[in-house]
Amino acid sequence: RTSSTSSTSLTWQPPAGALWSGIWVDGKVSFAVHDPEDDSLLGYVTDADEAEVDEAVRAVAAATHGSPWPVWQRREALTAAARLVLDRRELLTEVISRESSKTVREADAEISRAAETLRLSADQAGHLTGETLPFADTPRGEGRLGWYTREPVGVVAAITPFNDPLNLVAHKLGPALVAGNGAVLKPAERTPLTALALAEILLDAGVPAQRLAVVPGSGHRAGAALAGHPIVDLVSFTGGHRTGEAVARAAGAKKTLMELGGNNAVLVLADADWRLAARSVVEGAFGVAGQNCLSVQRVFVAAALIQRFVEHVAARTHALRVGSKTDPRTDVGPLIDVREAMRVEEWVEEAQRGGAIARAGARREGAFYWPTVLTDVPAHARLMSEEVFGPVVTVQPFDTVSEAVEQANATAYGLQAGVFTQDLDRAVTIAGALRVGAVMINESSDFRIDAMPFGGPKHSGVGREGIRSAVEAMTEPKVVAIRRQ
Ligand code: NAD
Repeated sequence: RTSSTSSTSLTWQPPAGALWSGIWVDGKVSFAVHDPEDDSLLGYVTDADEAEVDEAVRAVAAATHGSPWPVWQRREALTAAARLVLDRRELLTEVISRESSKTVREADAEISRAAETLRLSADQAGHLTGETLPFADTPRGEGRLGWYTREPVGVVAAITPFNDPLNLVAHKLGPALVAGNGAVLKPAERTPLTALALAEILLDAGVPAQRLAVVPGSGHRAGAALAGHPIVDLVSFTGGHRTGEAVARAAGAKKTLMELGGNNAVLVLADADWRLAARSVVEGAFGVAGQNCLSVQRVFVAAALIQRFVEHVAARTHALRVGSKTDPRTDVGPLIDVREAMRVEEWVEEAQRGGAIARAGARREGAFYWPTVLTDVPAHARLMSEEVFGPVVTVQPFDTVSEAVEQANATAYGLQAGVFTQDLDRAVTIAGALRVGAVMINESSDFRIDAMPFGGPKHSGVGREGIRSAVEAMTEPKVVAIRRQ
């Protein structure tokens, strides 16, 4: 390590440089990382420029193409990394809950999930298999013997968002590495320290140092240079839709995996356990102050239930404790910065000007925005079509199920949805009609396991993440055929 942060209010001293070839290299320029709650300084991190990104990519490419990495060693390294994540829980909790907007409880939950993500990635080592091919099934193929294997794509560029600073990085590096690739990571500029802590863990766990690089920095410079680098083979991006379009333009015809936004709907049918639905909606709308791609944003409730449902949701929302991230009793912490909180406030005010009524929240103090429940939201409000990425949920009545499905589908996004009903047959029919990547029945949209295919149609992305799907996308079949003499 050639550098360290000069002043920090963390008990951990994060490496300040970019990482490649196993060395932390001080960049020419660095940027400060602050705690969004009190603006305290957490450290300085390299703001990698195009030349530094180029050097990192070339170092990883040379190592990746130069020497194969035995599959059993990949499994061992990722298994060890999963263990180390748990061993360093205290450090990771501190870093996540200081640089991001997660509370200590939310940080703790993310650490368990990230360890699982790495373990699930390790398990994929046993599934990197191909199959024999039926050459003799056609006259032209007769006399040949052939098979395909799954080969790494090469250099994977990983670009990640701020909201799950550990697990979403693990979701890219775990599959990339177990598949035998090299990886270059550009973490979110607001949460680079957690990514650096994970990079240290991966190296300590035995990932060959040359196969992993981290280039912290701005999206428009380091991110764009990485996505557009000619010897990057695949770009795996998670972030907003507009950024995704910029990344796709930079990436050109490269393979891409894009996990973008959502404006997720929950349908509560007349026969539903509406108390369960209300509880799930409140949990699913306000976790991480609503800064979650699976957050519940629009709830459509059978007209017969709406009054009871809204009262219940509002009461539960009022009971949430908004406060400091470091207090274990806190339910909802701040947004990632004041600007974001002001944007959310503006969207709510826009809806209110159009007739929306706030049943809870609609209040801001600095970067904190109180969990907000809105009814009577006009169809043209941005809350109904765009992704709010903040603690706001809208509740609207419906008369017929087909009307509810139509409204749920009436956004450009399609990540996940939830349906509450006792009638499973109906639930399955509704699931078929919703244009989303996953439908949770008797659960809000805000549920996933890390092993399931994850992503969605429309503006929600391109391809699927989730460990097995990501490994599949980050490998390609290679056919070998022998003409028998
Ligand atoms: P963002 O789009 O602002 O940034 C994501 C990453 O892209 C960051 O690392 C950023 O530096 C980088 N970036 C920005 N401009 C770039 C450019 N021109 N070229 C290359 N990289 C660039 O997203 P955010 O605010 O950090 O995260 C919130 C968004 O992420 C939300 O829209 C949310 O829905 C989405 N998200 C999606 C998923 C999913 O799996 N579908 C999961 C989490 C978050």
